[in-house]
Amino acid sequence: MARIQTPQRVRGTQDIFREDQRRHAHVLATFERVRALYCFERVDVPVFEATEVFARSIGETTDVVSKEMYTFPDRGGDSLTLRPEFTAGIARAYLTEGWQQYAPLKLTTSGPVFRYERPQKGRFRQFHQIDAEVIGAAEPAADVELLVMADQLLRELGIEGVTLQLNTLGDAETRDAWRAGLVAHFAAHRGDLSEESLVRLDKNPMRILDSKDPRDRPVADAAPDIDAYLTPEARAFFDAVTAGLDAAGVAWERNARLVRGLDYYRHTAFEFVTDRLGAQGTVLAGGRYDGLIGSLGGPETPGVGWAAGVERLAMLVAEPVAAAGYLAVIPDDADALQPATKLLSDLRRGGVTADMGFRGAPKRRIEVARKSGAVGVLFVRSPGASGADCNLRYFGTDEEGMYRLSDMVRSALGFEFLVRGMPA
Ligand code: ATP
Ligand code: MG
Repeated sequence: MARIQTPQRVRGTQDIFREDQRRHAHVLATFERVRALYCFERVDVPVFEATEVFARSIGETTDVVSKEMYTFPDRGGDSLTLRPEFTAGIARAYLTEGWQQYAPLKLTTSGPVFRYERPQKGRFRQFHQIDAEVIGAAEPAADVELLVMADQLLRELGIEGVTLQLNTLGDAETRDAWRAGLVAHFAAHRGDLSEESLVRLDKNPMRILDSKDPRDRPVADAAPDIDAYLTPEARAFFDAVTAGLDAAGVAWERNARLVRGLDYYRHTAFEFVTDRLGAQGTVLAGGRYDGLIGSLGGPETPGVGWAAGVERLAMLVAEPVAAAGYLAVIPDDADALQPATKLLSDLRRGGVTADMGFRGAPKRRIEVARKSGAVGVLFVRSPGASGADCNLRYFGTDEEGMYRLSDMVRSALGFEFLVRGMPA
């Protein structure tokens, strides 16, 4: 008989388990806690959308749309795309679901996103993002709130050595004038640019500024800053954002080279950057996208938001995340199995984290319990054995007690004494 070849995991995807899983879950739980502190609402949007949702909003000239999308015809012949990010889908929902009535909306979401990229450390084809958006607020206070929330999230995750780099892309008038200045500068140095940047010069000249190609750096570094082109309104907006950050005690650094390539970006652009992940050093990035909802055919609606890679945050979480503690229930022999089963279910219904292995002699079970993070063991004797039915023992302490099963169950439901010694 021919041996069946086991199918392999698809390149760029992950099976997230054990320590990785705990880190991942820790990032998500921390995000969930922090977003509630800031009174952001959770939203969930589809994993796939009509291709035009992304093509029209993210923009045809970006790497994401031109090279990285998972686009396929479904069985009905419609072109669908697996979401490469969240903002476009949320903006689509804002328009199609009538969420304008709730504006301004403070939203967060998280989940898998998909990009066809070259996999490497911190770069996957299916990865996970956490995402925060404020839709329908043109005030700089919205930008400030999102940045302060991002800063608190990184602190609560214990991630150090991350810098907030901040820039402004100005308003439409500023941006057009700056763009013309950049095109003139780059056109004058055509001969010194990489082939890729020559293409960008026609399509998306701002992207040359953050080119990672060393050939582009001298020309990019010598390009004019936006500052000379800022209108008084754009300057005032940026000043209000930085004043808000200073008031909230969030450190920031100006990076005049930081851009977002898409035409709909306005005013604030930012990245939280670390030097600990090599070329994958951006952990959280975003900006103001006042032109996006208009590009989806909706009324002009201001928006600002950010997204962060869960895998990159998980790698930076300082401490390994311990598995949750539990109480191990151990039947002394086969006759004790049903009383132990009853006790186990009473404990769990009473809110005590407890587990009982499926097999093994008591000695072996204690060993397993110790190694797998149990805080203590609860032996259950078979009915009719002389003495107490239960023996509770916490690891690493002298605490020990013999109990009648009926007392135990009553206590489990009131569960004061069990909770002693249990992790919070
Ligand atoms: P990069 O320059 O690293 O490609 P990007 O500008 O494409 O990043 P965004 O579109 O701003 O990234 O996505 C927000 C965040 O998602 C990034 O800051 C990063 O943490 C994470 N991220 C982006 N692409 C990947 C990927 N392929 N694998 C894992 N995380 C990613
Ligand atoms: Mg990318």
